[in-house]
Amino acid sequence: MAKLESYSDIVGEDVINYLRQLAELLKGKKVVHVNSTMTGGGVAEILTRLVPLMRELGINTEWRVISGTDEFFKCTKDMHNALQGSPIIIPESLFKVYEKTNAENAEKLKNELNSADVVFIHDPQPASLIKFFPQRKGKWIWRCHIDISRPSRYVWKYLRNFVVNYDASVFSIVDFAQRLPHPLYIIPPSIDPLSDKNRDLDKKYVSSVYEKFNIDLKNPVILQVSRFDRFKDPLGVIRSYKLVKNFIPNMQLVLAGGTATDDPEGEIVYEKVKASSGDDPDIHILLLPPDSNTTINALQRGADIILQKSIKEGFGLTVTEAMWKAKPVIGGNVGGIKLQVVNHHTGFLVNTPEGAALRIRYMLHYKNKTEEMGEKAKEFVRRNFLITRHLRDYLTLMVSLIYNIEERIEIK
Ligand code: UDP
Repeated sequence: MAKLESYSDIVGEDVINYLRQLAELLKGKKVVHVNSTMTGGGVAEILTRLVPLMRELGINTEWRVISGTDEFFKCTKDMHNALQGSPIIIPESLFKVYEKTNAENAEKLKNELNSADVVFIHDPQPASLIKFFPQRKGKWIWRCHIDISRPSRYVWKYLRNFVVNYDASVFSIVDFAQRLPHPLYIIPPSIDPLSDKNRDLDKKYVSSVYEKFNIDLKNPVILQVSRFDRFKDPLGVIRSYKLVKNFIPNMQLVLAGGTATDDPEGEIVYEKVKASSGDDPDIHILLLPPDSNTTINALQRGADIILQKSIKEGFGLTVTEAMWKAKPVIGGNVGGIKLQVVNHHTGFLVNTPEGAALRIRYMLHYKNKTEEMGEKAKEFVRRNFLITRHLRDYLTLMVSLIYNIEERIEIK
């Protein structure tokens, strides 16, 4: 795994030195991240890389994953959907399962979380853990990765009862935040440019991956990489592809995705996607195992067009990943995609399958303009969405909470 020093070629030596200086203030502190899945989805992706880097900086960092039954994950998925605005009714009995599961996990994590200096609780799944730690010594941060700007009111009211007990909350973008009686921080997520998902690959390898899936790179390829989740709008992607195919008959579509262990809906959506693609041999639905990082990297590098046509999106790491590979993205005009896709500069924002189809045709036609946008996209990510920036924000947040600094931090 890449060492901190290796990032200086990408972001400059000063950035790395600054991280080391900040981390001096946190040497030996115990930090625990808690979430609900080890693989699948953006949170796991980020923690996989962030945790080793924090350790390298001398911070005693752990990552724990809560466990639960299918019923628990059904409840948290419903909560997730309701918090992102779906009109879902969650029966009282499921809320009981939610709290009971958190109580059981709290028991297992008791000593570790009670003695930690900082605890990051990621997303709603483990949010009620805090209720079981009245003796906690450290600062607890609720790190919300999803869009809760227009939640189902009663679900948010329920969850808020737990969240108010935290010392701070972190949201990915301003639009997602809710009013809370503690400091709120805005920290967008990031990608790791040196991970298998994002490091440079040679062209031969990229071609070999496409060959393996029987996809012909001589013909244009549209790609969307996403869990099979309805908010990612895979059916809308198929519709866009079909509209384009009327004009460009050799067009191919690749929908690459897997399911996350904390997402019980994946299979249903996958079946719907298969049904909607019918027997079109140019639609390739790839169900990838969780460790397909280099494969995804190659798919993103080889595609002509990258879509992320989400209708709701926390941040959209797949967008960042594509942009880092100098690919402008056609993205849904929602959530964190809006922060990354600067319309007409680093990609295009779209609201409908028709809009996406129009932009696909534009990009295929104006290759030079597309290349120019791709270069801008890469620089935009370098400046804003790499893991070194993310690490700096987390270190700053921890320093300010531990030392109760409200306005400024002095580093030597
Ligand atoms: N991803 C993956 N395999 C898949 C689908 C997605 O490794 O089959 C990765 C993807 O490359 C990205 C992350 O999972 O790094 C998804 O993060 P994003 O923020 O785009 O969406 P989320 O799944 O968190 O809603």
